[in-house]
This record gives sequence, structure tokens and C-alpha cells, in this order.
Amino acid sequence: MSKPGRVVVLGSVNIDYVLHTPRIPVPGETIAGRDFRVVMGGKGANQAVACARAGGSCSLIACVGDDAYGREAVAGFIEDGIKTGGVTVIAGARTGAAMIFIDDSAENCIGISAEANAELTVARVEAQVELIAAADYLLLQLEVPLASVQRAAELARAAGTRVVLNPAPATGPLPADLLANVDLLTPNQTEARLLLGSEAPADNSDAAVAQALLRLGVAQVLMTQGADGVLFATGDDLQRVPAVAVQAVDTVGAGDCFNGVLVGELAAGVPMLAAIRFANAAAAIAVTRPGAQDAMPRRAEIAL
Ligand code: ADP
Repeated sequence: MSKPGRVVVLGSVNIDYVLHTPRIPVPGETIAGRDFRVVMGGKGANQAVACARAGGSCSLIACVGDDAYGREAVAGFIEDGIKTGGVTVIAGARTGAAMIFIDDSAENCIGISAEANAELTVARVEAQVELIAAADYLLLQLEVPLASVQRAAELARAAGTRVVLNPAPATGPLPADLLANVDLLTPNQTEARLLLGSEAPADNSDAAVAQALLRLGVAQVLMTQGADGVLFATGDDLQRVPAVAVQAVDTVGAGDCFNGVLVGELAAGVPMLAAIRFANAAAAIAVTRPGAQDAMPRRAEIAL
């Protein structure tokens, strides 16, 4: 990577309250757990951290609460070299939260509360138009209000800033006018199928699903396939890039690592397939370590 191009990540900041239990408790039940941890999370924050640690020049647009966790999150961003001029502290609000149970088979059960993330309104996005317009790439996810994601994509498109949407968490099809402003869509295998809804092809292969997503109006689709790597589809062209073989211990945040690193490379002018290989290498490191943000590797560790 020569000169890092500018990336703006717009998205959520969460505090993850993680408890390991032998199995997921059922209603009314109390179960003794272990290894309780409070860690920094949220897809926007995770992707910004991944991008910055891998050497990207990264700004974050997000909202945090007026609480100790919000202050801790911002201090962490600054330590990682993320520009925080677009992070707003919302008076009287709490920082977003996720309560996560993980059972012995690594199955999880998650409740989230948007809290300050819900305050990332269209007006607050519009207030950051200069930051978005000056960026080479805007990286979005779906943990903040959809109308704000749509507006950010619109502002970016109007300014010639490329838009990457990681459609996570996905609940179903997205508005066509959002997809029309997306240059690169990066679902995982589950999200890709949810986005298609009733447009799902009879052939349920990843390749057919990726082609069907292209028909929704996005220019390029990059489907992450866990340990199988990546499928990159554009026009009639389909390319597969294998993952790096590792012994995974915790795949939470794999997609966040992949997306943050990928967009940092693309913004720096690295060609798509080389950027994918580098992001695969970074995400392979992340899955060998526990946690999400904690697991994001630094550039020097991402050997090719
Ligand atoms: P998500 O975390 O969003 O569900 P995936 O599971 O598709 O996304 O993983 C994203 C990327 O992380 C993959 O494309 C790959 O580069 C890397 N990855 C995920 N799981 C593994 C694994 N077990 N071994 C190596 N790389 C992995």
C-alpha cells in the first residue's frame, strides 16, 4: 500500500456484554455462566478499527452515549489512529449495547439495544457531508437507522465517493434506491439470501445468489463464505478467492475485519483481487484470536 486513501466508516458503536453458559437459558431460567467480559463492539467501530490497524486512513461517523463506555470507546478509537471528528457524544444517552450468551457449542443468542446509535439521524449524517465528500470510500453497515444509511450513500454518490455496503445484520430485502447507490455489496452467505427475499433463484448456489444480487442493481457483489473465502461477482465475471487455512477459535468479527481491511486497501488504490487476498489474510488472523475488536491484526502481522 503506497499512500493510504481516505475511508469514512459510518455505523454503530456498541458495548458487548458477553457471558459463556453451558447452554442458552430458556425463559424463566437462571444458569451459572463463566468468563463474563465487557468488550468494545458494534459493526461500525469494529470495521473502523480493522481498517486503521491495517494501515488505512480512517474516519468514523457514529454516536456514542454520554457515559463512561462512550468515553472509553472514543479513547480507543484515538489510540488506534481513527479520526473521531465525526463521532458525536449524545447528551443523556447511553452507548449502544449488545447482551450476548455463548453456549458450549459456540451457538449464540444476542439482544441489542441501539441507544445512542439510534441518534445517528439523517440530520446528523447531513452535518458530515464534507467528510463524506472528501473521502475515497464510504463503508456502511445496517446497525444504525436505515434512512441515515440511505442518505449517507446518496451524499457519497453525489460527491463521487465510492460506497461499500456490508448488509449486516440483514433482515430482508433493501430499498432499490439504496442499492442503486452502492458500488460494492459485501454480504455473507446468509445475508446474501435474506437480501433476495422472493427474488431468490431456483439454483441456491452461492454463484447463482451472487448473480441474482447483481440483478438488483448493485455494480459488484463480494460474498464472504467463511472458511471457504470469497466469491467476487461483477457483470458476467465470477472469481473465487480461497480463505487462508487456519484453526479458527472465534469467528465473531471475521466479516468486520474483512470489510474494514478490504476497503482500506481499495481506497489506497490496491486492485480488487489483491485487496481481497490481503483482507482474507487479516480475517484469518482475527479468527485465531478471541473477541472482535481485540482480535483485529496490525498491518505488520498481515504477512502474505
Ligand atoms: P461473517 O463474520 O460476517 O459471518 P464470514 O463468516 O463469511 O463473515 O467471514 C468473513 C471472512 O473472514 C471470510 O471471507 C474469510 O476471509 C474470513 N474467515 C471467516 N472464517 C474463517 C475461517 N474459519 N478460516 C479462515 N478465514 C475465515
